[in-house]
Amino acid sequence: MGAKAGTKAAAPFPAQEHDHGHCATSAMDRAAAICAARGVRLTELRRRVLELVWTSHRPIGAYDILAQLGGPDRPAGPPTVYRALDFLQENGLVHRIASLNAYIGCPDPGHAFAPGIMICEECGRAAELHDSAADNALSRAAAAAGFAITRRTIEMVGRCRDCAAQAA
Ligand SMILES: [Zn+2]
Ligand SMILES: [Zn+2]
Repeated sequence: MGAKAGTKAAAPFPAQEHDHGHCATSAMDRAAAICAARGVRLTELRRRVLELVWTSHRPIGAYDILAQLGGPDRPAGPPTVYRALDFLQENGLVHRIASLNAYIGCPDPGHAFAPGIMICEECGRAAELHDSAADNALSRAAAAAGFAITRRTIEMVGRCRDCAAQAA
C-alpha cells in the first residue's frame, strides 16, 4: 500500500521515473471514497476498467481496455466497456480525450471545470491543465459572442517538460 500523498503534485506531468504504483493506488482509493460518498456502486467491472485506465499516464481507448480485461466476467463487447467509462466520466474519475477517443484517469476528481488536456507527442502521456483565468476568459468571450457553452473541449498537443529536457 502506498503512503498517503503528502503534497499535491505541482507538475501536471509526473517525472518519467516516478512511483506510478502510488498514482494508481491513490486513484483507486479516491474512487472508492467518492463512490461511497455519492452512494453509487463501483462495480467490479468499473473498478477494473479504472485500474486499466490508470495503468499509465498514456490515454487508453475502450478497445484496448476490452482487450486487457480477462477473467470469467469479461464483457462481450465494447458497449459494456463504454458504459463503465461513461460512469467513471460522470463521476469525474476519468476524462475523455476527444481527439484520441481515449481516456485518462483524473488525479483530482471533483474539480469544477472540464480541464484542458495537454498531450505529449513524444512520450504519449496526457495531463490536465487547470487555469481558472483562461476558463473565465473563454466563458466571457463566448458570452460576448452570444454563444452559450454546453460542453468545452480543450486539447493541446506538444511536448512535455521531460521530453523537452531530453531533446535539449
Ligand atoms: Zn503516475
Ligand atoms: Zn512527454
